[in-house]
Amino acid sequence: DCLGKMLYRSLGTGLVWRHCNAMTKPVLLWLRQDLRLSDQPALLAALEEGPVIPLYVLDDGAPRQWAMGGASRWWLHHSLTRLDESLRAKGSRLILRRGKSAEIVAQVAKQVGASSVHALRHYEPWWRNAEKAVGKALDLKLHDGGLLLPPGAVRTGAGGMYRIYTPFSRAVMSHMPPPAPRPAPDHIPAPPTWPETDSLDDWKLLPSSPDWASGFGQDWTPGEAGAQANLADFRDEAPDYATARNLPSIEGTSRLSPHLHFGEISPAAVWHHLTGSDEGTNTFLKELIWRDYAHNQIVELPTYGSANARSEFDALPWRDLKAAKEDFTAWQQGRTGYPIVDAGMRQLWTTGWMHNRVRMIAASFLIKHLLIDWRHGARWFWDTLVDASYANNSVNWQWVAGSGVDANMFVRIMAPLVQSEKFDAAAYIRQWVPELADLSDAHIHDPDAHGVRPRSYPPKIVGHREGRERALAAYRQAKG
Ligand code: FAD
Repeated sequence: DCLGKMLYRSLGTGLVWRHCNAMTKPVLLWLRQDLRLSDQPALLAALEEGPVIPLYVLDDGAPRQWAMGGASRWWLHHSLTRLDESLRAKGSRLILRRGKSAEIVAQVAKQVGASSVHALRHYEPWWRNAEKAVGKALDLKLHDGGLLLPPGAVRTGAGGMYRIYTPFSRAVMSHMPPPAPRPAPDHIPAPPTWPETDSLDDWKLLPSSPDWASGFGQDWTPGEAGAQANLADFRDEAPDYATARNLPSIEGTSRLSPHLHFGEISPAAVWHHLTGSDEGTNTFLKELIWRDYAHNQIVELPTYGSANARSEFDALPWRDLKAAKEDFTAWQQGRTGYPIVDAGMRQLWTTGWMHNRVRMIAASFLIKHLLIDWRHGARWFWDTLVDASYANNSVNWQWVAGSGVDANMFVRIMAPLVQSEKFDAAAYIRQWVPELADLSDAHIHDPDAHGVRPRSYPPKIVGHREGRERALAAYRQAKG
């Protein structure tokens, strides 16, 4: 870029000289949940300023309770590996450091003499704090691109944030489509010298003893190419999505959630890839808007992951976790005696993902049938989901609990066995609960009721009516 530098200097053009100097100063690209090169506005803006140093900081200093969970760490390891490969193919590489984001970003910037830092905006409370801290010390330039629209971009007539999903979704729709995604750059100029980097293996993000993630690789290909492949596969299925998304026995959804969470693909790219105007595609795009909605909620209520959004739920007499430990463990391990719940919990443990309909059933069972505080369930999901997202997880758990801003009513208690039959979960149960594989479609949803429960499968840990009544009584008590 500065080939003419010498010439201009000899001509004594001070302005251009200074500009050229700035162009050779490296620029930091601070990566977090945006591990991609396509449609990556922070990268494109950084490239305009000079050679780019892509930096990922493993920051466990965020509030301890929200340190990344085990399944997410597995994903992160592979995603960073793929990202480094893609960067190298373009003449660059990924620098890895561990510590407090604000301190490390400032440290690296100083070491390399970076003039500025570019990053995509993120909305988890700890990322917003880190952005503030980095912004105080350095010239931090934040870009949008993780959501369809930045939070607060659509507002109610009175100028407030939307609390209810449906009008929010309508307002977002009126601004769609999002800007067309921009391609990855062909080449990423390297700085004259690279700062030191940690070795990814030293971070020990992968589990070893035991290697509980051994099954994950069969289901997932973390990284940008894996995201594109899932999206391409889903394109033909999108027209059937409205019905298929509710059937856990088939692969009727996109399986893009971990890719979207880690920012390996932008929601705008997903939107533009699915061009159909059929009911299925429309329903899918509305689900994608739920993701935006959830992020808007955590901006408005940063404590969404730890506090009831409706304060009347603070008085709900949840069972004490110590006393309910056995039930909680049975739920975690998929041994509740409710086949649909157990299938979901085992799918989660084995693959790091659970079908959305089954997430709702399993969460409702924990909260209502077992009367265990939603926060304990959300913590377990946080640790075991590869798509664990502060916004989506918190908003959905509170949706199921009834304690959320826009939520299902607590008194609408899902009947797991009815759900299992209604959404035809027989094949799904056979896959994840092999003890029941020989049971017929008619018996598999509720083996106890038909007297065909094999000895290897536990009896129900609580009766449906008993659990339901206990939950309703607790709710009445909370309401005074
Ligand atoms: P698709 O049906 O193909 O949907 C496409 C995308 O839209 C998803 O990848 C996701 O980004 C978004 N989306 C879909 N449904 C929702 C929703 N209800 N809320 C917000 N975004 C949505 N999703 C997460 O990404 N991370 C979580 O931690 C998470 N925790 C959940 C906890 C509970 C109790 C429940 C009921 C749901 C949770 N969800 C979470 C939402 C949903 O279950 C997953 O996004 C979905 O199952 C992912 O599969 P998919 O990519 O095939 O989804």
